[in-house]
Amino acid sequence: MTGKRLILMGPPGGGKGTQAKVLEDAYGIVQLSTGDMLRAAVAAGTDLGKQAKTIMDAGNLVSDEIVIGMISERLDEADCANGFILDGFPRTVAQAEGLDLMLKDKGIVLDSVVEIRVPDQKLVDRITGRFTCSKCGEGYHDTFKLPKTADTCDACGNTEFTRRADDNAETVKSRLKTYHEQTSPLLPFYESRGLLAVVDGDQEMGAVTIEIKRVLDS
Ligand code: ADP
Ligand code: ADP
Ligand code: ZN
Repeated sequence: MTGKRLILMGPPGGGKGTQAKVLEDAYGIVQLSTGDMLRAAVAAGTDLGKQAKTIMDAGNLVSDEIVIGMISERLDEADCANGFILDGFPRTVAQAEGLDLMLKDKGIVLDSVVEIRVPDQKLVDRITGRFTCSKCGEGYHDTFKLPKTADTCDACGNTEFTRRADDNAETVKSRLKTYHEQTSPLLPFYESRGLLAVVDGDQEMGAVTIEIKRVLDS
């Protein structure tokens, strides 16, 4: 089945990006990651990027207006017409309200909100071991997902990888605190609308994918 419109929720390091990449291919839909968009602005050295960098490096949230504006513009692009995965947005009540308004305005209806649930103590290892192909963005992990050939990206053959500036043990603590204080209150909000499905993210990647697909196909 194609044409899904969903929010992928979950803590930092919970596996949202990993699963979003698989769902893109499986359903012919696009991943909209506010974290990726912000990192692109940082790398490009735009004014927005300069502002965002300090906030992101400290593990705090960038302003609601900025991310709401980014998503609203992105949803108007042609490749979103067949469906999309919101990854890392909304993250606050104000963002959820902003999303509601823009979806109404654009005549878009959400199919599902999937929460990938992972216990906090697992997330520090997930995040400190994370690295990414610098060319194609394929995600890896020092313990849980090494490239099949050492130091060579499975997806594109590139041999350079990057680690995020905010993926360190200190920043993880403030990102987790922010998640519990500001983002997890959105879960009952979506549950009360009958949109929420909870998936066990504390199992191997393929098993998580199977659970998410079961939700989307039901
Ligand atoms: P994670 O891997 O922790 O889920 P993301 O890549 O989604 O991280 O986000 C990295 C950082 O970018 C966040 O810690 C935050 O500073 C900023 N960011 C991303 N999305 C949002 C958002 N929706 N609202 C505010 N800040 C955001
Ligand atoms: P998020 O986008 O939610 O921050 P990622 O998808 O980037 O999370 O995953 C964080 C790290 O954990 C990555 O290095 C990824 O390879 C690894 N990872 C993702 N899902 C799992 C899983 N189910 N089991 C073990 N490691 C995982
Ligand atoms: Zn690659």
